[in-house]
Amino acid sequence: MIQIRNYIGGELISPISGQYLDNYNPSTGQVYAQIPDSDHHDVQLAVEAADKVRSAWAETSIAKRSEYLMCIADLIEANLDELAMVESIDNGKPLWLAKSVDIPRAVENFRFFATAILHESTESHQTSINTFNYTSASPVGIAGCISPWNLPLYLFTWKIAPALAAGCPVIAKPSEITPMTAFKLSEICIQAGLPAGVLNIVHGLGSKAGDAIIKHKQIPAISFTGGTQTGAYIASQAAPMFKKLSLELGGKNPNIIFADCNFDEMLKTTVASSFSNQGQICLCGSRIFVERPIYEKFRDAFVARVSSMRIGDPLSPDSRLGAVVSQQHMDKVLSYISLAIEEGGKILTGGKRFIPETVEHKNGYYLEPTIIEGLEYNCRTNQEEIFGPVVTIMPFDTAEEAIMMANSTPYGLSATIWTESLSKAHKTAQALHSGIIWINCWLLRDLRTPFGGMKQSGVGREGGFHALNFFREMKNVCIKY
Ligand code: NDP
Repeated sequence: MIQIRNYIGGELISPISGQYLDNYNPSTGQVYAQIPDSDHHDVQLAVEAADKVRSAWAETSIAKRSEYLMCIADLIEANLDELAMVESIDNGKPLWLAKSVDIPRAVENFRFFATAILHESTESHQTSINTFNYTSASPVGIAGCISPWNLPLYLFTWKIAPALAAGCPVIAKPSEITPMTAFKLSEICIQAGLPAGVLNIVHGLGSKAGDAIIKHKQIPAISFTGGTQTGAYIASQAAPMFKKLSLELGGKNPNIIFADCNFDEMLKTTVASSFSNQGQICLCGSRIFVERPIYEKFRDAFVARVSSMRIGDPLSPDSRLGAVVSQQHMDKVLSYISLAIEEGGKILTGGKRFIPETVEHKNGYYLEPTIIEGLEYNCRTNQEEIFGPVVTIMPFDTAEEAIMMANSTPYGLSATIWTESLSKAHKTAQALHSGIIWINCWLLRDLRTPFGGMKQSGVGREGGFHALNFFREMKNVCIKY
């Protein structure tokens, strides 16, 4: 049995309490590893280690910091196959997806911020002939980074890389459900020679280890990605302490398909935007609005494609869908399918747990990709985040109606628009209450762009210099001579 350890003060160590939690392989339903059940004592140890190195790391030259991050990126890349394998086993996602998306994007995260800091300039504002201002930026201090289970290493590094690049030591907690690649990252950091205490990874439950991080007085900035409810709780604890907070939360993303779209391109991408990673990407489109003239054509073609998607062993190259992350999450998604039926929805395909034929996988957490029609846009199924392989489809007659329905949820993370009309595309994009909008594409990534949601999907933006500046305090110095 693999035993994961915390990474504190440059060493891999056991939790102080000696207590561990079971870690499940969702593709088989079996326990395959143990993770530290860390608590505030472990977090305290991590804060002490980070505090020791805080000034030294802030004073480390940009070039040297960049070198460390590049070295970590190179080592992640060199271990891509192994990292993808453990990500797939830990999370249930298809191995091909971890190899082509999760791990390469973790490499890019480190490379992007390693090079971004080499190309920055600071601002200066001249007020009059003999007065000017310059802005200096200093690291905010020890950063707390908390990430979810759906894209484990990818989202973990999306926070850690800018924090380290900005000169902050980090206390990071991965989701207790998917700790394995974070553990591998700690081994990589040791190999890269990252100074002890610069990055500390504390494993364990959100309610224990996570809670100790958000409440710790010596951690002035919290970067959190996860559910909206957890985000609200974190804000309630951290805001009275005036901590800097970046919250990337849940979504219920609309996908608006106009009749004049490139149908084949739209169909192919809509299958991916609905069911990639078993629908467990915060950017997946879960409400699909289709202009009435092509509604039936779309429905039939979509159902035909989706019902032939292969589900099963995440390690098999033939599996388009693997397992969802946990028994608890599978039960939650199934309860939403039952709710949809109660609310008058018609299941066009899927709707059930899937039991693979291979004995080894019979107890795994597999779900059929599910398409539902016939629901009102404002019913609970269409308003609450399901975060699984479940989408609803609805017809619309006018752009105004589609926009009204799209904007009707409390969320505002991302949206996708399909049309060949330039003005329709831009008008719709401007009217949608979403922080990220894709027109005729989905999940294309440019790390320089602002990333984040409106309304209950979050507070603040990550990406590019937004992420770097979150981990900094700006100071204006005004000079008269
Ligand atoms: P959770 O909110 O349950 O957990 C996220 C992280 O927070 C985990 O590491 C969790 O630990 C930790 N946590 C839980 N409670 C606390 C607490 N009281 N104090 C501190 N930390 C805590 O989210 P999920 O892991 O279930 O992730 C799915 C959610 O993430 C979805 O809502 C999805 O939309 C959202 N998400 C948003 C993204 C975005 O960019 N906007 C991107 C990806 C996902 P533990 O797991 O150990 O409980």
